[in-house]
Amino acid sequence: MQPVKPRLVVSACLLGERVRYDGGSAEDEFVLELSRKCEVIPVCPEVSIGLGVPRDRIVVYIEESKPRLTQPSTSLDLTERMESFSENFLSSLPQVDGFVLKSKSPSCGVSRTKTYRDPEGKMYRGLGKGLFALEVLKRYPHYPVEDEIRLRDKRRRLLFLAKVYFLYSLRVNSDRLGPLLETLKLWSPIRYRRITRLLERRNLEGVRKAVLVALENLPTGTLREIYLKLSGSS
Ligand code: SF4
Repeated sequence: MQPVKPRLVVSACLLGERVRYDGGSAEDEFVLELSRKCEVIPVCPEVSIGLGVPRDRIVVYIEESKPRLTQPSTSLDLTERMESFSENFLSSLPQVDGFVLKSKSPSCGVSRTKTYRDPEGKMYRGLGKGLFALEVLKRYPHYPVEDEIRLRDKRRRLLFLAKVYFLYSLRVNSDRLGPLLETLKLWSPIRYRRITRLLERRNLEGVRKAVLVALENLPTGTLREIYLKLSGSS
């Protein structure tokens, strides 16, 4: 039997798959290291909606505050295709413990995606997010959803890992949360009492939300401690 591991959805290009618009990959060392410790569900939303490799540039433009996806060279509006793929893909997922998506992408970008004022992608508007990433963030509030650039920040990386291993522990066996609760008790007795009450009532959805929010407020050293204990690395 395969050992149970944290389960992550990862942009396929970060894993070294040659699915980018130019036929290349965006292999990332930390993501590869993570993928060896986790069960990975790779995804390439652009290939999944039928765009080939290589493919012409696609862009995000904002129309009346709503982001849309187009391919300037073909004048194709890809918004509905991408939204429908995102909804179907995310609805079909098993319970997952986090996402690592490719930065800057019009589909996967959690951060630094260029957005435009026009469907031709000529009038730069500012930085935003990709359409697939937007749907992930909408469906998974407070979940660990990051990109490879944001994960270079030490605190953000530890928060990501602490959240992933918390969600994994809760999914596999909530009895494994002991070390996390001990740390929370020292740091915030009020939160600790609230979370233990939720656990006693087996309100796992309530526990999930309360702990994800609590982790965001912990100092970096405490996050490291929690990550090491939950991942069994300490
Ligand atoms: S960023 Fe997303 S859509 Fe673009 S190649 Fe990578 S996985 Fe595919």
